[in-house]
Amino acid sequence: MEEMNKTFIFGHKNPDTDSICSSVVMANLRAKLGENVEAVRLGELNKETQFAFKHFNIEPPRLIDKVQPGSDVIMVDHNEFSQSAEGIENANIKMLVDHHRISDFKTKEPVFCFAEPVGSTGTILYKLYNMNNVDIDKKTASLMLSSIASDTLLFKSPTCTEEDKRIAKKLEEIAGVDINEYGLEMLKAGTDLSDVEEEDLINLDAKEFNVDGIKFVIAQINTVSIDDVLKRQEKIENAMSNKIKEDKLDLFLFTITDILNGDSEFIALGDRTDLVDKSYKLEDNRAFAKGVVSRKKQILPMVTKNID
Ligand code: MG
Ligand code: MG
Ligand code: MG
Repeated sequence: MEEMNKTFIFGHKNPDTDSICSSVVMANLRAKLGENVEAVRLGELNKETQFAFKHFNIEPPRLIDKVQPGSDVIMVDHNEFSQSAEGIENANIKMLVDHHRISDFKTKEPVFCFAEPVGSTGTILYKLYNMNNVDIDKKTASLMLSSIASDTLLFKSPTCTEEDKRIAKKLEEIAGVDINEYGLEMLKAGTDLSDVEEEDLINLDAKEFNVDGIKFVIAQINTVSIDDVLKRQEKIENAMSNKIKEDKLDLFLFTITDILNGDSEFIALGDRTDLVDKSYKLEDNRAFAKGVVSRKKQILPMVTKNID
């Protein structure tokens, strides 16, 4: 029975650091406001996120695989149903906190929406704490800092705003953490992918989109050496091809992002690789994209622009 009036808070599938941290940060806020909530997650923790939770000695959220019809939920760091929990269509969405384009999102009841084009969901949550006059404790500040460091690639991404930088400074003080030092350690922890099989590698941070009937996935991994990852190109392509067949995708765009230099290498497969090739000439199924690091601000708009 008690599960009935509990609100579940979660980020997107194939969760990243911002999704996991933001669900915990939001759960802390709602709990302080007297609500019965639980942060949960829709997938395994990646190495970067594992590093963050271990570093600050915080318990990560519990894994769920679907939401029950009619259950109360708060969505953070995503809104597209294709990236959300199984059963989301029949859940009661009470609130949304997000920094992505709004698409493929529908609610049965009126909903609180806190959406801003800032660098991370953690940034919006900082403002929600202020709005509700709730103090931010050290651990919560550490999680928000992790969100900002991860999503903005330490302020290098074009998604990063002045507000992210200003709020990060405040959070550094509360957390007693140097974001540049800690953030680089955290990002590097996420690049250790040598023991990850290619089938998993292509799904680590994969998001599915549906634009004008074209179904495609943009996946992204971080590295300190693009060349190192490219040694696995053949196996990566095999895994991508299987995924394309299984999920009937028109395009799979795998993005290898160099976090030190802020560039990416694309590997593209599928019937619609023209959607990449129009902007970046593909050779041997790949192309170098100088200064490209952001899926939401650079890669997704490129693909959708080429669809039109
Ligand atoms: Mg995210
Ligand atoms: Mg995010
Ligand atoms: Mg991301």
